[in-house]
Amino acid sequence: MAAPVLMDKIVALCKRRGFIFQSSEIYGGINGFWDYGPAGAELKRNIKDAWWNDVVRSRTDVVGVDCSIIMHPKVWEASGHIGGFKDPMCSCKFCKKLYRADQVWEQIIGCGWVQSLLGLYDPAKPTGVTGHDLKRWAQGKGKQLAPNLALVRNPDVTLSWLAEAAAAEGGLINFTDAKKWIGYFATEQRATGPLVTPCPTCGGDLTEPRPFNLMFKTHSGALEDESSLTYLRPETAQGIFTEFLNVLSVSRQKIPFGIAQIGKAFRNEINPRNFTFRSREFEQMELEFFIKPGTDAEWHKTWVAERLKWYETIGLPAAKLSCYEYKKEELAHYASACADVMFEFPFGVQELEGIAARGNFDLSQHQKFSGKSMEYFDDETKERFIPHVVEPSAGVDRVALALICSAYHEEDIAGEVRVVMRFAPRIAPIKVAVFPLLRNKPPLVEKAREVFKLLQPHFKTEWDDRGNVGKRYRYQDEQGTPWCVTVDFDTLGEKGPELLDTVTLRDRDTMKQDRVKIAELVPLITGKLR
Ligand code: ATP
Repeated sequence: MAAPVLMDKIVALCKRRGFIFQSSEIYGGINGFWDYGPAGAELKRNIKDAWWNDVVRSRTDVVGVDCSIIMHPKVWEASGHIGGFKDPMCSCKFCKKLYRADQVWEQIIGCGWVQSLLGLYDPAKPTGVTGHDLKRWAQGKGKQLAPNLALVRNPDVTLSWLAEAAAAEGGLINFTDAKKWIGYFATEQRATGPLVTPCPTCGGDLTEPRPFNLMFKTHSGALEDESSLTYLRPETAQGIFTEFLNVLSVSRQKIPFGIAQIGKAFRNEINPRNFTFRSREFEQMELEFFIKPGTDAEWHKTWVAERLKWYETIGLPAAKLSCYEYKKEELAHYASACADVMFEFPFGVQELEGIAARGNFDLSQHQKFSGKSMEYFDDETKERFIPHVVEPSAGVDRVALALICSAYHEEDIAGEVRVVMRFAPRIAPIKVAVFPLLRNKPPLVEKAREVFKLLQPHFKTEWDDRGNVGKRYRYQDEQGTPWCVTVDFDTLGEKGPELLDTVTLRDRDTMKQDRVKIAELVPLITGKLR
């Protein structure tokens, strides 16, 4: 299935089955903000519980915190978020759209007008793309798709120097280096400056990258002036660093140990896109693992392996997961290593989590800006040092989207399409649904209620008595419920005592129905959930 079609289907299912809604939809929505419906809220909670359980509760060397979203503004000076070196932006001189400089080429290559232009090249044609092809495109499709592209605005001028450039390339425009050729098409006068980067939306000239602050501003207290200016945190990590001394003094932990936090973060992203993938309000699950200087490489390796493995435990297929190791020149100046856990979304392979060895940059900065010593005293070696840190930082919403995308399946069942969300049972929003075969037969309803009450304390259970059983199965399949229990006349003993107090247990993936005793349901489902 083509990626945009698949994504549209996934977005539609998310709305239809209560996973994700557009925020403030009744007012026309607000770009970059999303609401989770009943199924989505359960899914997100399951992700966070799984992370907290595996990263904090089941370890002896990690403790948790839950810090405020609004912090002292000095925190953001220390962290480097104020001061402008974060996220340089380019804007279009024509349509005024803003883009993140580090992401803009990815957007250019994927946009409609570039794809259309690159489509002119036919490897079977020995002439490559001719000036004539380009001019025809500029005066036809180009006018609609990229009206502000130099080649479209002024084809003759652009093509005049392009012919020279093409001659230097052996006379052939073959798009082997697409980025370079796109730069050529975007540049009206080659002699006056460097190649222009074009706007993915209209083809116009983008400015050089300029610093842009992604933090949302607000005021704390009655006065709305500079003195009361505060920010919504753009990451949860800084709360952990500012509480490092407090946690150290109360938790009996010794280095190496970690402090974890799950919470909301806010970034005024220029281009929210790909559904919830890049939002302006999102949740992070972050761990700062404090270590002895010099042990960075080995701890980084350990955490990369741990984190990659974790994604499989929540049901993401290994084949869609990968790890991108940063090259030396891509690292922040303070980092000694960084790796991103990547997932193959329908819209491309993208980051789920970053794992960075950040040295002692953050604690040193807070020591400098707060004047409080962040040193740790190692009572075994009698050494004093500012701990280094390895930071695995994941986004709850991206993990939820990855799970939704990989769970989505369409199957042909006797000529009909069955949509089924194959969530791992551990992460599925609803574990089991209970149905009375018919809703207008009180003995069936009464018995089914008993079964529901039996299961509810153990699993997230849903009651469903609408429509016929087939329709209920389809509904639960789309919600990803692994098991459905139906109370029928056999349960009441109508076919004889051997079936009394038995129900059908239907498996979402195999669609097989087994007859099981009501008394065995809890241990059976508990076993399957492990
Ligand atoms: P990107 O390069 O995609 O903007 P980043 O490298 O800036 O991400 P980090 O600052 O390392 O992201 O944040 C850690 C994690 O938080 C990311 O791996 C991602 O899962 C999540 N995250 C970051 N920005 C967003 C966003 N705008 N929307 C949803 N999740 C986000």
